[in-house]
Amino acid sequence: MKQHERPCRHSRPASAACGPRADGTIRALAAIVAFVALAVCGASSIAGVPRVPERPQGPDSAPVQRIDGERVIGANDLARLLDATKFWRNDVRKLELRVRAHRVLLTADNPYVIVDESTVLLTSPVRSRGGELQAPIALLDSLPRDSSVNRLVFDPRADRVVVVPAGGVVGSPRVVVAEGVTRIVFPVDHPEDAVVVSRSRAHLRVRLPGYFAGVLPDSGRQGLMRSMRTLPAVSGCALEMSLASDALGFRLLRESEGRRVTLEICRAGGPAWETFAPEGPPGPRALRVVVLDPGHGGDDPGVNLAGAVEKDLALDLARRLRGEIESRIHARVVLTRDEDRRLDAQQRAEAANRAHADLVISLHFDGLPGSRSSGASAYCPPADVSATAGLLGGVGPNAIAVLPWRDVAARHAVESRALAEAVLGSLELRGLGPTRLRERLPCPLLGVHAPGLLLECATLTSPEDRARVSTPEGLDALARAITDGIEAYRRNE
Ligand SMILES: [Zn+2]
Repeated sequence: MKQHERPCRHSRPASAACGPRADGTIRALAAIVAFVALAVCGASSIAGVPRVPERPQGPDSAPVQRIDGERVIGANDLARLLDATKFWRNDVRKLELRVRAHRVLLTADNPYVIVDESTVLLTSPVRSRGGELQAPIALLDSLPRDSSVNRLVFDPRADRVVVVPAGGVVGSPRVVVAEGVTRIVFPVDHPEDAVVVSRSRAHLRVRLPGYFAGVLPDSGRQGLMRSMRTLPAVSGCALEMSLASDALGFRLLRESEGRRVTLEICRAGGPAWETFAPEGPPGPRALRVVVLDPGHGGDDPGVNLAGAVEKDLALDLARRLRGEIESRIHARVVLTRDEDRRLDAQQRAEAANRAHADLVISLHFDGLPGSRSSGASAYCPPADVSATAGLLGGVGPNAIAVLPWRDVAARHAVESRALAEAVLGSLELRGLGPTRLRERLPCPLLGVHAPGLLLECATLTSPEDRARVSTPEGLDALARAITDGIEAYRRNE
């Protein structure tokens, strides 16, 4: 039992788990698969936008109307969003909204509003239209602020008043350009939860906690930024920047005190800066054959914990993923195994190569005893190898058999890395994270001549993850998210 409960071993880096055998394995494979390159995972930084077709249920909201150019919200909507009780006094044409211990008193045709003990002067009076009072949205800034009252914010892009979710609000980004550094400052209630989900120049994506109630800069083209847009995200919001080609580094500063997140982009680079993922050629990628490799099988269950068996989950997910990919991408999908049997790495590689795979995804589920980790991890070899090694240029096919695996893996490293970024990005946007990208060569992809990655789709030692993937709905959600990522990779936008 104990050995069945060990974490998934296939995700270990080849240099660790399979290290002593790696070179020998590769050379044997290369001989068998006749000069097949041993590329494994790769990485280009270009990932398209994962689609999130089923938009999450947004927060409660109400439309904003205009009276004489002034933005107003109807008192009935205001009361509903605040969860307030209304008391109308017809003789004085006053409406009192009561929320817990608070009260807000609106008077028709009067710019003064009483909020608890304070009198607030609005820029224009409360109006009456069709028998309903209409309050200028400036009132939102003066409403009581404590945990017993819903916080409301005006979303200028949706032209609605929105109940602020637990994650808070993200305001309009501000761009400041100075001394070769472009700073994009986001007002954020909880800066500590901000994360970069894709780090290419073409698609630098940041996921921020909270509801985006800001406006984008009039011109996205400022300093090293070329454009900015919002992306659908299941939790929080996501913004994507495309950057100038001479941007060399970036860093994300989370300033809890200042309640802001600053994305700094520089021309100079250096040790204090993070680098962008390397980029492959532009334009859509051909995707005719997708090989899915359900991990483990037969007498190797992989992670086996409280009824969740990795080999079964991987196969179930692969079958669902096959349907999703075939219907949405119209690529042929080949499974390395479609039953419960054990395959070694060589058989998996041969199956992928025989099918002329355009990409390979090895499906696993993680197990990390004693850790509180959850979410997904993707493994691919370090993409930077391709940038540093001159071996890609002058190597003929006859030389491949004698190349160490690390060098050959670099052939698809950039593309595999792009795939990993796209898949992890869509998992993040669908709320199936957190996600981690590991630049290590995974064993099951040794000998595969295509871009690929090993995906630990969820962490079975996390009770929440285990419960989620133990339902058909949970596996379907994973299949949709992974397909989003594959689609984004194919579009290479
Ligand atoms: Zn595994």
